[in-house]
Amino acid sequence: MLSTPSKKIIIFSGAGISAESGIKTFRDSDGLWENYKIDDICNQYTWEQNYDIVHEFYNQRRLQLAEVKPNYAHEVVANIKEKYQDNCIIITQNVDDMFERLGCKDVIHVHGELTKMECMGCGNIYSIGYKEFKNTDSCPKCYHTKIKPFIVFFGGSAPYYADMYKAFQHLQNEDSIAVIIGTLGNVIQINANLELVECHKILNNLEASPYIDESQFDKVYYEKATSAIKKIESDISEFWI
Ligand SMILES: [Zn+2]
Repeated sequence: MLSTPSKKIIIFSGAGISAESGIKTFRDSDGLWENYKIDDICNQYTWEQNYDIVHEFYNQRRLQLAEVKPNYAHEVVANIKEKYQDNCIIITQNVDDMFERLGCKDVIHVHGELTKMECMGCGNIYSIGYKEFKNTDSCPKCYHTKIKPFIVFFGGSAPYYADMYKAFQHLQNEDSIAVIIGTLGNVIQINANLELVECHKILNNLEASPYIDESQFDKVYYEKATSAIKKIESDISEFWI
């Protein structure tokens, strides 16, 4: 018989947690974002043809990221991580660095990170911070000149999904706690991932999502993440035995 995975707190977040910091996504705007078409700047098959516009777009996102700040929901999540250490795993669909700015380490960014670049020559992933990428820039390791924003594009591989599914295995322990914050659950199918496990489950979204069956959750908060997060923090300490 397989042994039960150890209990963990898995905090899974999406755009909803960063919205209050002023970070927008394509989903806010019908697939158009400041006049960029999602297909031009987020497509694995065409990004090289659109090299200049792709970098222009992500350069702007990076500059905007430098101007926003983590909000209260990020702060409380960071406190929870600090308190429970390795017993808490933060997974996010967001490409911002709000958790890192609060000192969180080992955050699983399933869709990549805006502050990093990926070399198409040697696979090196390196930090660019909030700086603009120039089309003449090359890989600091191998000097290759084809560099991609470290973002999971449509049609591209998402290597960190493996880490996410490994983390989700801990939810098979009924003493584990799954916390879902700010995601419709349609890109990564939260509902399917949770419905077969018996752990404690907490949901926080602005409103009900057609992709998430709220009846499987012990606690449901339909409100802003910043107003739900203190309640979530105390639910966690109540559930964590
Ligand atoms: Zn390289």
